[in-house]
Amino acid sequence: MNSEYNDYMNVSRGTRREKPPGAAEPEGPDPKGTLAAALALCRRDKISLTPGRRRILEILASEGRPLGAYEMIDRVAEATGKRPAPISIYRALDFLLENGLIHRLASRNAFLACGHGHAAQEPIVFLICDVCGEVVEATSAAMRGALSELTGEARFSPRAQVMEVAGRCQACARV
Ligand SMILES: [Zn+2]
Ligand SMILES: [Zn+2]
Repeated sequence: MNSEYNDYMNVSRGTRREKPPGAAEPEGPDPKGTLAAALALCRRDKISLTPGRRRILEILASEGRPLGAYEMIDRVAEATGKRPAPISIYRALDFLLENGLIHRLASRNAFLACGHGHAAQEPIVFLICDVCGEVVEATSAAMRGALSELTGEARFSPRAQVMEVAGRCQACARV
């Protein structure tokens, strides 16, 4: 396991929302940071991005929230003036998923950019707010330890370990 891979929380906001009075500035998404980190990862791992794949990654990073494949087709059409075939979008998404550059939220069939540089099979948890749509990507050493023990005992090799927790974020739980 990569020793630089520490516990983290990464926030993607689904919708803009007012900061509650007196609250600390929320740790918002940094689209440029996500893209830069993802591109640095490509250089490190010698992942070559075709212009089409790179565009999908750029769209997801700048969106800063989960996007479905059909929303992605609309975004590509807006950017290029040409409507791509769904299969080309799915192929690009598969490639980005396999290389750990994006994640898929199964419950929403939507995709999210990730600049953490962790392996595609690393355990992660998505905390998904039902009200504002905020998605937080989180992990912890304790969770990784527990899961590796669990899969190890079953002699099971995980391909993906993504958990989704639905509920209300801190701001939405207050109202
Ligand atoms: Zn991630
Ligand atoms: Zn919320």
